[in-house]
Amino acid sequence: MLEEAGATRLEAAEEKGKAGPSPQQEVACCIVGGGPAGLMLGLLLARQGISVRVLEAHGDFDRDFRGDTVHPSVLEIIDQLGLSEGLLALSHSRVQQFSLQTDEGLLELTDFRLLPTRYPYMMLVPQVDFLSFLAREAQRWPAFQLEMGARVEELLEEEGRIVGVRYRTREGWREVRALLTVAADGRFSRVRQLAGLQPVKTSPPVDVLWFRLPRQPEDQLGSGGRSLRGRTVVVLERGSYYQIGYLIPKGGYQRLHQAGLAALRQELASFFPPELAARLETLQEWKQIAVLTVESSYLKRWYRPGLLLIGDAAHVMSPVAGVGINYAIEDAVVAANILSGPLKRGVVSCDDLARVQRARLWPTRLMQRVQEQLQKRVLVPGLLKEEKPFHLPAWFRWLLRRRLVRLLLAHFIGLGIPRVRVAV
Ligand SMILES: Cc1cc2nc3c(=O)[nH]c(=O)nc-3n(C[C@H](O)[C@H](O)[C@H](O)COP(=O)(O)OP(=O)(O)OC[C@H]3O[C@@H](n4cnc5c(N)ncnc54)[C@H](O)[C@@H]3O)c2cc1C
Repeated sequence: MLEEAGATRLEAAEEKGKAGPSPQQEVACCIVGGGPAGLMLGLLLARQGISVRVLEAHGDFDRDFRGDTVHPSVLEIIDQLGLSEGLLALSHSRVQQFSLQTDEGLLELTDFRLLPTRYPYMMLVPQVDFLSFLAREAQRWPAFQLEMGARVEELLEEEGRIVGVRYRTREGWREVRALLTVAADGRFSRVRQLAGLQPVKTSPPVDVLWFRLPRQPEDQLGSGGRSLRGRTVVVLERGSYYQIGYLIPKGGYQRLHQAGLAALRQELASFFPPELAARLETLQEWKQIAVLTVESSYLKRWYRPGLLLIGDAAHVMSPVAGVGINYAIEDAVVAANILSGPLKRGVVSCDDLARVQRARLWPTRLMQRVQEQLQKRVLVPGLLKEEKPFHLPAWFRWLLRRRLVRLLLAHFIGLGIPRVRVAV
């Protein structure tokens, strides 16, 4: 019965998918959230002629800093789609290796040049440019529709199955009915809450302040981490600026805020050479600084009948190794690989959705466990001993000197385990 209804709806959806927005629409797949996961899934489905509607709450992609890193795994996926030329034409910078400067000297953490790939580097591109690029490429396919300024507020449910969403726009309420609804609406997922799914959370004892410092062409600082006297900053070199992440003990923002910006600038100055430290003066307002409340979480169940959750909605990754964007995109690729057939046939069962979860839950949990161990045993003990020299455990330094370990680490971070490829 459900299958027949699904097939009929899909035919209607394919027809209606070509029309512009109307108060009520029908598509094969409705994706909530136009972030990396939602746009990539939309692109992959639309290029196969599966009607997709992506609903994005914001009016544009320009928002607070949320990470600029595109790992080799994502570059390979983009290459498989024949889009790498367009992506690499965007203004970007590259990180081939990542080192940590400590009180004990320089330590090489990852070297992507060891990897067997055409893209042995991490691309740094503003997320707004990356998302605009994905949206542009997806919009080339007639089956793809993106509606900006569309905030999903309700799920449509019939006989225990999610059959679409209700959302608010400036013009009023609208509905989309869909064979499959995908929640790619990020770490504070509204759909997850509406579906009654509870993530299992851990709260690493750090937060991160993100801000920019101007960069001059002759600057030599480069990208890398700096852990000195119990404090850590991460520096990502961009064209005209440095993106800086400053690790602070969880809840420490309040203390910093009370102490004032001048005190923060002073605290940060020792990380940088004098000419760059002087540029800290460009930080004049707290709104120039974004606070990332670090958390790590995962859902035990990523689906309900007619509904799948992917990306941050299904699992929030710690910022260690900066893998949130590529895990979100890999989820989208695996979801497209597994669900394209069922979507084309007009029947998406819970077994199909469970296959997506089975394929993605263990890599996510594996990475989260590694991140937890690195936080617990390596980063945080140093971070919390204020004003004391930062000591990395001897076993960790020994491991990092082994080429095989560095290769495995680069593989794990850069290409992912298992490697995800587009199969549709
Ligand atoms: C400060 C900060 C720094 C980060 N740095 C990095 C980094 O360096 N590298 C990295 O890989 N990751 C980083 N991350 C994590 C990374 O941004 C996420 O892991 C990644 O964006 C997840 O992609 P997503 O598509 O699942 O969700 P998101 O990117 O969060 O996208 C979700 C989208 O859904 C939309 N949305 C939300 N609710 C609704 C609704 N009700 N209706 C319609 N649309 C909705 C949102 O507007 C958003 O566009 C960082 C995150 C933060 C906050």
